[in-house]
Amino acid sequence: MKKLVLLLALALGVAAASPAQPQDAAKPKPKPRVIVIGVNGMELDIIRPLMIKGELPNLSSVVNRGAYGKLRTVNAPNCPRVYSTIFTSTKPEEHGVTGFLVGGITANTNMLKEEPIWSVLSRNKVTVGMANVPATFPVMPVNGYMISGMLTRGKNCEDGVLCAPKLTEVMGGDAVYPRSMQPELLKNVGDFYIDCERMPAASDLKGHEAEVIGAWLDKVQTIREQQTKLFDYLLTNHPTEFTMMVQSCEDRTGHWLYPITPFNVGYNPAINNVRLEAFPSQYVAFDKVLGSILKHTDENTYVFIVSDHGIKPLREFEDKDAHAHSDHEKTTPVIAKHDFADGDDVPGSFFAMGPGIQHDQRLMGFEASVYDVAPTILHLYGIEQPKRMRGRVLTEIFDASSAAVTKSGN
Ligand SMILES: [Zn+2]
Repeated sequence: MKKLVLLLALALGVAAASPAQPQDAAKPKPKPRVIVIGVNGMELDIIRPLMIKGELPNLSSVVNRGAYGKLRTVNAPNCPRVYSTIFTSTKPEEHGVTGFLVGGITANTNMLKEEPIWSVLSRNKVTVGMANVPATFPVMPVNGYMISGMLTRGKNCEDGVLCAPKLTEVMGGDAVYPRSMQPELLKNVGDFYIDCERMPAASDLKGHEAEVIGAWLDKVQTIREQQTKLFDYLLTNHPTEFTMMVQSCEDRTGHWLYPITPFNVGYNPAINNVRLEAFPSQYVAFDKVLGSILKHTDENTYVFIVSDHGIKPLREFEDKDAHAHSDHEKTTPVIAKHDFADGDDVPGSFFAMGPGIQHDQRLMGFEASVYDVAPTILHLYGIEQPKRMRGRVLTEIFDASSAAVTKSGN
């Protein structure tokens, strides 16, 4: 019992050893701090060798201090479809955001038919901060702030699909909630790209492959640096109890610069033999972003790193025309994808660490799914899982005696 009390105290960030002062009793208990980092299309086949080589020190430190494994995704996975499933723990047909386009219209937050986690948390007085999360445009009111991500519409990105408007170029809705935060961000962070760069068209590449690839990767790095600055600014100046931040450039790079071999479908040496390190390097760059986020955490912070799906080279037996996730004009020579009919072919990934979460724990098979992320986070706040949610609390990632598990008695 004593151990349980101590663990509970540790989990809640309370100094257990000091005798309680009368005024302490009246103070509300501090709520857990949870940071969720989304990495679109994080592919474990690419990640694992990089970890072995020691090129992902920050991600490796999370693995050593936490639980990790595959994250079962939905069938024919793509970002808006899966992120909306992560938000709501309901099926795509239930939450309504079934893909990039729904009924011919770019997916947007007004289509969401099930309550997302940011709303449940806000209702329960948890402060919420979200930045660059896919399918959050136009932004919704939360108990904190929200800056939209993938599917934000703007200049040169009128349909919002897989392109990058700057904050000042956004059209057709708000990209920042509350509105008063927009001038503050422009002043302190500068104008920034909201999503990753559009992939180049085959016609732009032809005859200038190396040059176009180099310029594109430079732009991607610029976008990532802007994003790092934005995340750092928000975590420093607007700390929230629940924070979610997402990167998109890894997946975009994988689609056309996955390090395939001459035996793979679509191999074109003029493109695919130019920058073999381009895709793995995205994760090395991500690891630095992760390092800058981890500087804002301590041993009482929960950190979740989630990926909506992986990404794999095309297969000769798939119907190439069914490819829904080349760029929207279908002009980019795509050589890897994730919207395979069977989502188990391209699982996402899941990493978790924090008070009461087991260390160095590997989740085997498909123990964890995208449906389980929201219920597990709500559980940390002691919030009962809404009945509509299909996932479950990932109790197995917690120590058996952990306060995080015993607290709500699930
Ligand atoms: Zn993709």
